[in-house]
Amino acid sequence: MLNCIKSVLNPFCFVMKRLKTTLFLLLCALSVDAATVKGMRVWTGPDHTRAVFDLSDAADYKLFELDNPPRVVIDLDNAQLTSSLAIKNNKDIKKVRFSNKKQDVRIVFDLHEKLKSKSFLLKPAGEYGHRLVVDLSHEVEPQVKTVEQVTQANRDVIVAIDAGHGGEDPGAIGAAGSHEKDITLKIANALAEKINAQNGMKALIIREGDYYIKHRKRFEKARQHNADLFVSIHADAFHSRDVNGASVYILSQRGASSEAAKWLAASENKSDQIGGVVIEDKQDVLSQVLYDLSQNAALEESHKAARSVHEAMKKVVKLHGQGFGQANFLVLKSPDVPSMLIETGYISNPNDEKKLKDPNHVTKLTTQIADGIRNYFFQSPPPNTWIAAQAKGKKHVVQSGDTLSDIANKHGVSLAAIKSINNKSSNQLLIGEVLYLPNQP
Ligand SMILES: [Zn+2]
Repeated sequence: MLNCIKSVLNPFCFVMKRLKTTLFLLLCALSVDAATVKGMRVWTGPDHTRAVFDLSDAADYKLFELDNPPRVVIDLDNAQLTSSLAIKNNKDIKKVRFSNKKQDVRIVFDLHEKLKSKSFLLKPAGEYGHRLVVDLSHEVEPQVKTVEQVTQANRDVIVAIDAGHGGEDPGAIGAAGSHEKDITLKIANALAEKINAQNGMKALIIREGDYYIKHRKRFEKARQHNADLFVSIHADAFHSRDVNGASVYILSQRGASSEAAKWLAASENKSDQIGGVVIEDKQDVLSQVLYDLSQNAALEESHKAARSVHEAMKKVVKLHGQGFGQANFLVLKSPDVPSMLIETGYISNPNDEKKLKDPNHVTKLTTQIADGIRNYFFQSPPPNTWIAAQAKGKKHVVQSGDTLSDIANKHGVSLAAIKSINNKSSNQLLIGEVLYLPNQP
């Protein structure tokens, strides 16, 4: 080698050197294992479709869009496809085509219409290994608040209901194999029905189907729709199958209230990595700091609301310990909307899992949660709402011997009005029941 450098002008030596380099590069290329594309999952939301490819390793790829007909092409270099890919009845992707070419893989999505594409690689997280994520989205028109929405008097309070996890992120897996994401979606929808059945309250559904939404997007959707409360529904797992019961949590910016709360928040906060979110840019980090500063005000209301729900839930479920805790949950970090996270039970416990899948239990549970939410709003009504106009915080606690008409007479209000604001269909009363008194006769 030394000789060679010294006599670099010697033509024979020069040729040998080039030959060696070529041979070395050739060996290098052959020794790098081709990444395998092992399969694909597709999740579709109202405004986007996400395709996730499982890879054996990080791979080089190119993605480009073509028109007439609209399609997206993904070329993976030095890769092999080891399974067949198919898509059925998807509202965004008409068909998927693929080919293995020597060292490369080409995948083509034929689209129903032109969509915006975005793609990124994810490192292993949760049960997943390396992944390539392709997001196809419809341009969403920015939400413009109308004057009517802002100044409307006697409006309904808006309760944002967020079904935890979804799509690529199954959440916890139950003792009998149920996925937390499916259980939370059912409970969230049942709760929305209960909320909508009440006077003066309206539900806003954050996740409508089986797809993932990142933590920040969840509470931002609530803010965009001027929500008065944000409720995230969960049903997690624990190491021990004996652990059971329900809990209500709110945000803590300092430490967690218990080891269990800390552990739970850490496990929930991993969802973004599992669900498929790219590392946030600097702008996001900066705005996160501003968010932290303004959260304190909402925290006091979160506390009241969560306590009210906690009281109501106690009537139908066993609580886990005190059933109330605080920890640093990312999904609760809305700067100005009071927020809570409800653990409806532990699906790692066979009995809790069975109950959470039982429609009768779900009805009982969501009736109580809706009641707790309603009680909170009657105690702390947001201004310009129907509830604020009706209640003004006056209430009557039912004593032994009370009748509805006696109570109405005593407070100079009509029987119909008292029934209407308390959402009662019959005249039956329970001792200890709280009745809100109408503002007008
Ligand atoms: Zn969860």
